[in-house]
Amino acid sequence: MNTIAFIGLGNMGSPMVKNLLKAGCSVRVFDINETAAKALSPLGAVVAHSLEDAVKGVDTVITMLPAGEHVRAVYLGDHHGGVGLLNMVSANTFLIDSSTIDPDSARLVANEAHNKALEFVDAPVSGGVAGAEAGTLTFIVGGSNIGFQQAQKVLQHVGKNIFHAGQAGDGQMAKICNNLMLGIQMAGACEALSLGIDNGLDPKVLSDIMLQSSGRNWALELYNPCPGVMPNVPASNQYQPGFMSKLMLKDLGLGADAALKSQSAIPMGSLARNLYAFHNARGNEALDFSSIFKMYSKK
Ligand code: NAD
Repeated sequence: MNTIAFIGLGNMGSPMVKNLLKAGCSVRVFDINETAAKALSPLGAVVAHSLEDAVKGVDTVITMLPAGEHVRAVYLGDHHGGVGLLNMVSANTFLIDSSTIDPDSARLVANEAHNKALEFVDAPVSGGVAGAEAGTLTFIVGGSNIGFQQAQKVLQHVGKNIFHAGQAGDGQMAKICNNLMLGIQMAGACEALSLGIDNGLDPKVLSDIMLQSSGRNWALELYNPCPGVMPNVPASNQYQPGFMSKLMLKDLGLGADAALKSQSAIPMGSLARNLYAFHNARGNEALDFSSIFKMYSKK
């Protein structure tokens, strides 16, 4: 049986662990928020009380952390002399980072892992909490062919589509492009729905029309940002996340960083990043990213 250490049990990590347990994997869980780890114990997860306790002797480590700084701290150690998990795991432990982070951090960790003869892949995901719960996530893997094949064996328990984007860091780059489009699309969906509401249209009727028209997109189809239009989405649950606005701002910032490096024009992505910066500065950063609808709404 595959023994997995899972680090980072937030909105995405916890449902992913549940699916690994359902698939019969033996899972050790660790989060700096011990309540999140304890909640998985009745389902069969073994709660670890330290990073070392979690990763020692396992076959595979999966991390699902907020941002690059957390991933670097967990794998390489923090700036206060803390040791990273690359120095804790046994030889042959396979390492998967599913957080969305900057490609340079992913390449740095991949390089350090390689120096210790450990296989590491970046494997960020798309599909949101609903995809994590249903086990239908899309994984976007960056790493060697061997790493990709190894990753498929584990990730098939939590995902439906598993892509090989290229070498180390390329999974992150593809994910950053995807989320640049998602941020633009979400802002666009909010704008169109609000314009319709302001001109007397019913947002449900307008959504149905756009879903069968050329304005159709993921936000409208699966994640309608207008309260009351769609059940079981954050908009109909006071914008509880979901995918927090602060994480969307992080991802749009990753897009902006990448664009600076490649001298690419991203006018729409830059605008979306600024909209999220405004929105978050007004106390919305822990709400779901679809809450940007409130910025457009006159009510
Ligand atoms: P989250 O903030 O809900 O969860 C992150 C977890 O990591 C928290 O429980 C936190 O306590 C834990 N953590 C932080 N530092 C740690 C450390 N040093 N050791 C152990 N645990 C630590 O975030 P999330 O929504 O689960 O997202 C995780 C990643 O997945 C992010 O990079 C995000 O951009 C990406 N992502 C999220 C979604 C989504 O819909 N929520 C979708 C796709 C990708």
